[in-house]
Amino acid sequence: MQRVFISDLHLSEVASPQFQTLSRLLQVESENVDEIYLLGDLCEVWVGDDDDAPLATALSDVIRQASARARIAFVHGNRDFLIGEVFARRCGLELLSDPDVIDSHTVIAHGDQFCIDDEDYQQARRTLRSAAWQASILKQPLAQRRELARNLREQSVAAGANKPANIMDVNVAEVARVMAESGRQRLVHGHTHRPGVHAEPWGKRYVLGPWEHCGWLLRETGASEPQLECFALTGRYEI
Ligand code: MN
Repeated sequence: MQRVFISDLHLSEVASPQFQTLSRLLQVESENVDEIYLLGDLCEVWVGDDDDAPLATALSDVIRQASARARIAFVHGNRDFLIGEVFARRCGLELLSDPDVIDSHTVIAHGDQFCIDDEDYQQARRTLRSAAWQASILKQPLAQRRELARNLREQSVAAGANKPANIMDVNVAEVARVMAESGRQRLVHGHTHRPGVHAEPWGKRYVLGPWEHCGWLLRETGASEPQLECFALTGRYEI
């Protein structure tokens, strides 16, 4: 089984190097691997599956093409938690839970649920992930949701909300608790913008990086330990 895992692209425009590189990565890797996992914060914001803006349409197109050749699975992040069944069906994306156990040794997650030292964040997370709050947002007209997203985005840029210093790291005891419950020895997550591979008492924690100065992925070939790779966001994406 060959797989790649990516997260934290924070896509906001089709013309960005991040989207252009994702488009090529999906094309190249869907020919090369069996499964591609998107572990959240694929988009900077998602206003609903009825969004017909250029990014939502282009994203649907590139995922649909890739999902004809490989399994494309998605875990929600704290930015794109409104991606739903309608979008998933349209492009052949498989929606997973967070965390999810994907085989006899691996758990995947976005990662924000492990940052329990930030109590305000966890409180907000419970609201944003609740079905009632999401339904109340999705009831609003698309134009109103776009306006809301624009305001949130301006606030987030002003606050530097995607800067690693503003994102708390995981609580290792919380990670250990979840991993013990799962009975697995490998965890792949993103969110913290602190890419790395950590040996933990229960196994190994692979942290994906944000697509900022370069793109990041974790590659699993089955032959050896998974490898964290970074690649340029300019020029052609090549394996
Ligand atoms: Mn995140």
